[in-house]
Amino acid sequence: MAELSPVLKQATPVLAARGEGVHLYDEDGRRYLDFTAGIGVTSTGHCHPRVVEAAQRQVGTLIHGQYTTVMHRPLLDLTERLGEVLPEGLDRLFYVNSGSEAVEASVRLARHVTGRQNIVAFQGGFHGRTMGAAALTTSGVKVRAGIGPLMPGVVFTPFPEAYRHGWSQAEATRFALAEFDQLLATTSSPRDTAAIIVEPVLGEGGYIPAPPEFLAGLRERADKHGILLIVDEVQTGVGRTGRFWGHDHAGIRPDILITAKGLASGFPLSAIAAPAELMGQAWPGSQGGTYGGNAVAAAAALATLDVVRDEGLVANAAEQGARLQEGLRKVAADHPVIGDVRGLGLMIGNEFTTPDGRPDTATATRAHAAAAERGLLLLTCGPHGNVVRMIPPLVVDSAQVDEGVRLWAEAVQAAVAAG
Ligand code: PMP
Repeated sequence: MAELSPVLKQATPVLAARGEGVHLYDEDGRRYLDFTAGIGVTSTGHCHPRVVEAAQRQVGTLIHGQYTTVMHRPLLDLTERLGEVLPEGLDRLFYVNSGSEAVEASVRLARHVTGRQNIVAFQGGFHGRTMGAAALTTSGVKVRAGIGPLMPGVVFTPFPEAYRHGWSQAEATRFALAEFDQLLATTSSPRDTAAIIVEPVLGEGGYIPAPPEFLAGLRERADKHGILLIVDEVQTGVGRTGRFWGHDHAGIRPDILITAKGLASGFPLSAIAAPAELMGQAWPGSQGGTYGGNAVAAAAALATLDVVRDEGLVANAAEQGARLQEGLRKVAADHPVIGDVRGLGLMIGNEFTTPDGRPDTATATRAHAAAAERGLLLLTCGPHGNVVRMIPPLVVDSAQVDEGVRLWAEAVQAAVAAG
């Protein structure tokens, strides 16, 4: 009989049996330092006692109450609580289950309220794998190749990638904004352009923070032309970058904000937030989904936000992120194969480059595997898979950061030696 498997590909051989804080344990009791956090999801660490308690209590009270039919208390409380952290004016929320669904919802809303069709997305951006979200995604060909035709009305323009071109941040910003202006002047007239969708840190595309001046430039252009600015905070939100939202680093205001991943510590929950003038124009029933705003996920999200506040996790992400980045820079200084270390808060990428400046996917892949062998779980990203990224739970402490850096140094050493 053929062997059954739930995956197409598994990046590590680990079979997780349980999680606690920043650690995962396999079925033999081996401990792993988890710097993947379920791809940026377990923000409060694995099985934080307050999240567990809130979810368990909710499971015994009301599991599901489809909120567009009957409202329930956890979602009302969560909405009120999110009001404390959302940008001013984004006072209407719509809940679904995943990042991709929230991206789709944001596009529906933007097209509906503007009556325009085009969405500007960035080369290297990632917004999900459902068919609409895949149409916005160019972090690599795998998400889009062989499944077209994809949703029409998406136009792409460069993201500021300073390292790739050997530019300063200012040069990269100038170039990307000039290309954006050229796009509006030649390909996508503002009269046809509903929205811009942007990640504050290009995530799957290689962990490249957007320069604040770039996001400010987009905001200015959106205002000038009546285009909506959708900020995809699926990966960067809820403290990940050392500020509550990734766009806080630029001091801009989104028209539509998308949040998911870290919001509920591992329960499936996502949301879009927008001003009442926009959200009020959506027809009832035009947005929705059976499981959106699930009561247990909402209770877990509320507990997550409480933990993030009470344990000072946004400040911890900034502090430990700086410590981690400093340690990783020292490793890179010893190993020229790591051409760039960059990131914001606890969202850091290590880019592997050959001496003649090409992506060194082979060494990155070996380093990733060597880290897992040593008990440090990491992820890769970037169009060529040559960026090894670190995205630990926001509860990580100094000793765990230092342990991660030590294991990483050993892993890189081994990967280089095996080359
Ligand atoms: N947007 C961004 C910025 C993401 O990083 C992701 C997931 N990596 C998504 C959207 C899609 O989220 P999901 O996998 O929950 O559909």
